Amino acid sequence: MKKGLELESIANWLNVKKPIIISGPCSAETEEQMVATAKQIAATGKVHALRAGIWKPRTRPGQYEGAGDVGLNWLMTAKKETGLPVTTEVANAAHVEACLKAGVDILWVGARTTVNPFSVQEIADSLKGVDIPVMVKNPVNPDLELWIGALERLNKAGIKKMAAIHRGFSSFEKGPFRNLPMWDLAIELKTRFPDLEMICDPSHISGNRDLIAFVSQKALDLDMSGLMIESHINPDAAWSDAKQQVTPAVLGKILNDLVVRTASSENKTFKDTLSLLREQIDQLDDEIMQKMAGRMRISEKIGQYKKDNNVTILQVNRWEEIIKTRVTLGKAMGLEEGFMRDLLRLVHHESIQVQTKVMNEVEAKV
Ligand code: PEP
Ligand code: MN
Repeated sequence: MKKGLELESIANWLNVKKPIIISGPCSAETEEQMVATAKQIAATGKVHALRAGIWKPRTRPGQYEGAGDVGLNWLMTAKKETGLPVTTEVANAAHVEACLKAGVDILWVGARTTVNPFSVQEIADSLKGVDIPVMVKNPVNPDLELWIGALERLNKAGIKKMAAIHRGFSSFEKGPFRNLPMWDLAIELKTRFPDLEMICDPSHISGNRDLIAFVSQKALDLDMSGLMIESHINPDAAWSDAKQQVTPAVLGKILNDLVVRTASSENKTFKDTLSLLREQIDQLDDEIMQKMAGRMRISEKIGQYKKDNNVTILQVNRWEEIIKTRVTLGKAMGLEEGFMRDLLRLVHHESIQVQTKVMNEVEAKV
């Protein structure tokens, strides 16, 4: 088994009850923009830390690449004016050094940096012996090991107050989201490291301010520990990520409307009802497994029969027929078409494996 991470809670360190809310502009643009935005954010009374990008990793050259070191002064002024801790993105040792010197409270590693172990190691090395919380965004590509690797590099350097930020994954396909959420990756990370605080960044997932409330609620319903939401005094005029930023007033409304559910309840009736329902689920899973095993045993027999008669394993017509009938049947039972297709694909894949094994078995010599 892989060694876990040695973790301390950022929520405890901030002395806040989850969810931790972090907000601020995508980029610090001017001192006025930074401070005015920060003051309005603080006035919502619902935000625990301010964010702003100082060095911006832009996809194409010629876009606003951040204010650089001078922006740190604006961020620190925003901190002084609001009393809120501040966080920014670091991509190399020089950024870390500048942030530590300025007194930035929390650092984060951006999605384009997490993909590069050299850069992550450079940041980790520059943080040796420093006790500062660091948040690690998921890499732009859906590679869980790379995300974990970055967390491990920082942890090995002695960083214990760590959080993962789920900001979605780049995709060539255009969908409603700027970055595909692929929630199952975030869930898998949480399952592997239950103590790791996970913060969702609905702004970069959505790429569009209208989806932020929906994505935020979904994140909380998946028991994430917090949200990082981009906000700006004048979003449409923002120098980066204009479409996905909201005004502090809209931010306040989004936060107000969020339903915060607990991961568990001590209420006895709740617990009893839940365990009864879980028993039923356990029972059904058991039955599904038995049926599945029975189905594979028949696949094995079919494999043998095809082998004896020199017939190919894959018969496209039969497969198309299976999909068509099962999807129709599933739909009639209230099951989603996408779910049925995914499930059947998996079952079919395994069935082919089983038959391939039979087909290639060398008969035992007597
Ligand atoms: C950002 O937070 O503004 C940012 C650049 O994010 P990411 O690294 O997720 O693209
Ligand atoms: Mn941004």
